[in-house]
Amino acid sequence: MRALYKHHAGEGLAFTSDRPVPELGPRDVLIRVKKAGICGTDRHIWQWDDWAAGRIPIGIVTGHEFVGVVEKVGDAVTLVRPGQRVSAEGHITKGVDYLSRTGNAHIASDTQILGVDRDGIFADLVSVPEENVWPVHEEIPDKIAAIFDPLGNAVHTVMEAGVSAKSVLISGVGIIGLMAVTVARAAGASRIFCTDINPPRLKLAKKLGAVEAFDVSDPNGWVKEIKDATRGEGVDVLLEMSGFPQAIDQGFRALRNGGTAALLGLPAKPVEFDLNANVIFKGCTVLGINGRRMWETWYQMEELVLSRRLELDEIITHEFPIERYEEAFETMMSGEGIKVLMDFA
Ligand SMILES: [Zn+2]
Repeated sequence: MRALYKHHAGEGLAFTSDRPVPELGPRDVLIRVKKAGICGTDRHIWQWDDWAAGRIPIGIVTGHEFVGVVEKVGDAVTLVRPGQRVSAEGHITKGVDYLSRTGNAHIASDTQILGVDRDGIFADLVSVPEENVWPVHEEIPDKIAAIFDPLGNAVHTVMEAGVSAKSVLISGVGIIGLMAVTVARAAGASRIFCTDINPPRLKLAKKLGAVEAFDVSDPNGWVKEIKDATRGEGVDVLLEMSGFPQAIDQGFRALRNGGTAALLGLPAKPVEFDLNANVIFKGCTVLGINGRRMWETWYQMEELVLSRRLELDEIITHEFPIERYEEAFETMMSGEGIKVLMDFA
């Protein structure tokens, strides 16, 4: 089969046409991939930064965002059948550790991630445990189903923070930040403010429903503007999507006392942070967000997509056939594309 895999401890991925088909255990499902999304994680693996070098096994098939069709199922599988259109949760756990058994499988201690710790979905076929397979509703098109993984990050962050009738600051409008704008709006946020340093993305954030989008290349002034717009107090909710130390600090400054901050963006290294001013005296609630709640987030996503209140079309900017993977990665990494898909037809 065709596959994109990490062939060496350096930049890039290699394409092959003769990767063996993955093995299928009794409780596994073999899925024929139709469309795949390129994620920031795949970019780290492509660029082979410190995180990737410390985590990714050489030879692994990468990728974890996808939609496909069930090709074959193991003998003990009861949930899905061949021909069914599916996506899958990429965090795989045996489901028997303390966290999985207490409703927190998304942070299970034995989590293995598709395309990070085990062979992923940049391939014609992928094998996934039955428990991880998500049947796709017939009204949801392939290109939306293909991005349920990152959309789930946005939905998880927004729902965990709680945004209904609240003012919200989304700091960082990359792919997931932009998704968070449309999700927060659909979930009833009163007013959405955004920050970034990328003018076209700020413009898109406004189009998706932000009332104000601040370019923070000039760090002065915007925190005051947000406070002026919120009774001098600051926003009710901060959704931190950038991972940049300065953005994290300023985001907390723009958050009101007693507000809620949900942090999804990953800083590249440990950050210096004023806990006294930003958390303790502020009396705010800080939430760490990892992955998607299984399976609450997936049901919420399905409901939100079916409600037709999410605007995702302009976030999915490009699609390339798998053979043009270099162009696809380049388009994503240059910032020209937002969500870039690869097609396996
Ligand atoms: Zn991803």
